[in-house]
Amino acid sequence: MFDNNCQVCATRVLIFQSQVSSMTNTDHGIEVTFTCWCGTEQTQVMGRAARRSAHAA
Ligand SMILES: [Zn+2]
Repeated sequence: MFDNNCQVCATRVLIFQSQVSSMTNTDHGIEVTFTCWCGTEQTQVMGRAARRSAHAA
């Protein structure tokens, strides 16, 4: 479970594992594809590398 700042929902929503359609390990972290509560397919990069780059930005 993680939170997603959805632009369609215009709020921060919780995404559960059952909504995740794929997880891909990339150089910049784990790319998670999921379907939001509003039905929009979205992608979020998670993991240590993603957090590090977000902190640096
Ligand atoms: Zn949404």
